[in-house]
Amino acid sequence: MKVSVVKETAPGERRVALVPEVVVKLRSAGLDVLVQSGAGEGAWHTDDSYAEAGATVVSRADALAADVVLMVGKPDSAAVSVLRPGQVVIGLLAPLTDPDLTAALAAAGVTALSMDMIPRTLPRAQPMDALSSQANIAGYKAALLGANQFARFFPLLITAAGTARPARVLVLGTGVAGLQAIGTAKRLGALVSAYDVRPETRTEAESVGATFIELKSVGPASGEGGYARALTEDERMAQQEELAGHIARHDVVVTTAQVPGRRPPLLVTEDALKAMAPGSVIVDMGASTLGGNVAGSVPGETVMTENGVAVIGASGLPSSMATAASAMYARNISALLLYLVKDGQIAMERDDELQAGVIITSGGAIVHPALAADAGQAAQVPPDQPRDQPDEGAPSVHGSAR
Ligand code: NAD
Repeated sequence: MKVSVVKETAPGERRVALVPEVVVKLRSAGLDVLVQSGAGEGAWHTDDSYAEAGATVVSRADALAADVVLMVGKPDSAAVSVLRPGQVVIGLLAPLTDPDLTAALAAAGVTALSMDMIPRTLPRAQPMDALSSQANIAGYKAALLGANQFARFFPLLITAAGTARPARVLVLGTGVAGLQAIGTAKRLGALVSAYDVRPETRTEAESVGATFIELKSVGPASGEGGYARALTEDERMAQQEELAGHIARHDVVVTTAQVPGRRPPLLVTEDALKAMAPGSVIVDMGASTLGGNVAGSVPGETVMTENGVAVIGASGLPSSMATAASAMYARNISALLLYLVKDGQIAMERDDELQAGVIITSGGAIVHPALAADAGQAAQVPPDQPRDQPDEGAPSVHGSAR
């Protein structure tokens, strides 16, 4: 069976779905590995390094003709147009926010598996959890971006030229990325506080060195599958108001809050930004074209407010650490692939909970239970819908999808 890796085509994407070390593993499992020439260059893996690992370096057309095509992100429309029925495509396909691509893959007769739909709580799915591996990297990099932009020190420094007090860092949202941001800021010497709507995260946040902030005005908002639920209008306003006081007392704020299938919740309002001291920094990991956790944040840009607060719209963080991110992703995707391969061929078993969670199209149809009912309806939040409003069309998932 031929398994290929294509070069990513999304702007700024430097990651690659397989690294040479993992090619060796797939070869020893009896798979033929094809790598599109140049696929690894963004992550500093040369064609030669893949060839030495046992892969065949091929053209894009040949890579797209393999039995199984591996990628980090989504196939572009040119790639979809050359896929043929029965081919398997695996990537972070974001079917909940890109229903058109899901429909196109179904129409092409492709069996598509989306890495972001893996049921993360299944113990056997842990090695395949690409959302966690990439969120870990993003959280680490977000803390570094904050430290880099901040014009003072993170640690307490006592020198002959004076004493620098440690930076006060606040992390909002203590999922996988938030915990890594806390740990990283802490290791740099900052005093770290953290907040999440799920009170059960308190122990985890404290174990990596944060002081957990509890809001008096908002109760617990744990949702399904270990995720947060969307807040009501009243809860949201109360949260924003009470958080503003805490935000103003911090030098650097890292926001990581997400609610599956919804726009990122707005945690830092314009008023909260105005109350921050000049020179403060916010890193908005929720920054997206749908809107971020911070008012006015722009993905990929640093916006300076009138009162001198830098708002970093942190997008594409895993890609900015392409070598580490690719190594982890390659382990995740190869774990899924090897889980599916029996006697050198893909053997799908749709009554397996893990496979049912990850297969989104097969045999010309959209087959994922969370998507099939909504096929044809956009799962993404319509532009005119207010932020955070429950989206009637948004399916409930027990994996996760952005
Ligand atoms: P996520 O990216 O969906 O969200 C990040 C954080 O934002 C979450 O902690 C969430 O509670 C928080 N949040 C959402 N709305 C908020 C708001 N209005 N205010 C403040 N915080 C808000 O989360 P994630 O990192 O993907 O992880 C979600 C959960 O899944 C975590 O508990 C994680 O430990 C768990 N998880 C479990 C496994 C496993 O069981 N193996 C694997 C991965 C993740």
